[in-house]
Amino acid sequence: MELGLYLHFPYCISKCPYCDFNSYQLEEANQIYSYISALYREITAYSQKLKTGNIKTVYLGGGTPTILSGTQIFNILKFCEDKFTIDKNAEITIEANPGTLDGEKLKLLIESGINRLSLGAQSFNDVFLKKLGRIHNAQDIINSYFLARETGFANINIDIMFALPDQNTEDLQDTLKKAVSLKPDHLSLYNLTIKPGTEYYREYKRGKLNLPTEDEEYDMYNWVIDFLEENGFEHYEIANFARPHKKSMHNLIYWQNKPYLGIGAGAYSYIRGYRYMNYENPVKYIKETMSGKLPKDNGERLSLRKRMIETIILGLRTKDGVGYKKFKKRFGVSLNDIFCRQINKLVNLGLLEKSYVKIKLTRDGIFLANVVFREFVD
Ligand code: SF4
Repeated sequence: MELGLYLHFPYCISKCPYCDFNSYQLEEANQIYSYISALYREITAYSQKLKTGNIKTVYLGGGTPTILSGTQIFNILKFCEDKFTIDKNAEITIEANPGTLDGEKLKLLIESGINRLSLGAQSFNDVFLKKLGRIHNAQDIINSYFLARETGFANINIDIMFALPDQNTEDLQDTLKKAVSLKPDHLSLYNLTIKPGTEYYREYKRGKLNLPTEDEEYDMYNWVIDFLEENGFEHYEIANFARPHKKSMHNLIYWQNKPYLGIGAGAYSYIRGYRYMNYENPVKYIKETMSGKLPKDNGERLSLRKRMIETIILGLRTKDGVGYKKFKKRFGVSLNDIFCRQINKLVNLGLLEKSYVKIKLTRDGIFLANVVFREFVD
């Protein structure tokens, strides 16, 4: 079985006010030591359980994985190499916060086998960075980027957020032009969504967030797509743009609904049609794992219909869409037979494009992807 391996690191230097990820402000270094011990335990348990797993990609995400020292990250990856069969050409990505990198750490990341760096820049405007609660400024991003290049990173992604409070199209254009001028290999563009439980949500409820209107957001997104395509990036997934041969192999595993193993607090796994999640709370995760149990919180075996729907929804996120042949090969039934009503309705609405070989989102469909996805779920 081929797998993607995800390792979650839930700690951050501070909690950003918009963030609803499973991340927590680090209070003391001991939390990291206990967490790493628990990771080792969980990795060991799965290495015994999944003897035949061949890992094609590794992704260290968070939180802020680079809050760990270079040596800690190095040791964790060596431990994974000892316990699992990791493909020698595996793409190994680490998410990095520009405020947490230095030359020594970057060198150790390379030595540990990491070959892709994902920089959480979010904006190149210091005013927005401050409002977003980021620990870095625009110059820190530029410094980290060039330092990473000098150290040997040949594959760098930059994460950018848009539709920020008080942001207009010109502000976004300025940020994106600066990002592109660095010549990254990959760009991820996420629109800010206000999630319950966050500081931004409370401000939003009090009427204190001046968010762009839907029309403004639509204009921003359209401009982003055109601008990045003109600059040599392929828009291969709703929020992701890559230079040739630089698509995220790890994320493609998710979008192709292929198996992956998630290690760490709140990490999801999807193996042999069974999907489950680990305990989100790091304290609970550590406690369960150190007591010798697998830290599974909940899980479900997906029905055939649910697997088909998920394959469609995930596949439609990508430029490749969902191919009829592949669908039939995977599920033994025709996509058009099973989802004829939904497909025709969405084609008539101009949100889906249907060819002889596949279905895919139109430009409007990309913007209204949630409307499209709901149609298949309902
Ligand atoms: S650094 Fe990333 S994970 Fe951590 S709080 Fe900010 S947005 Fe969330």
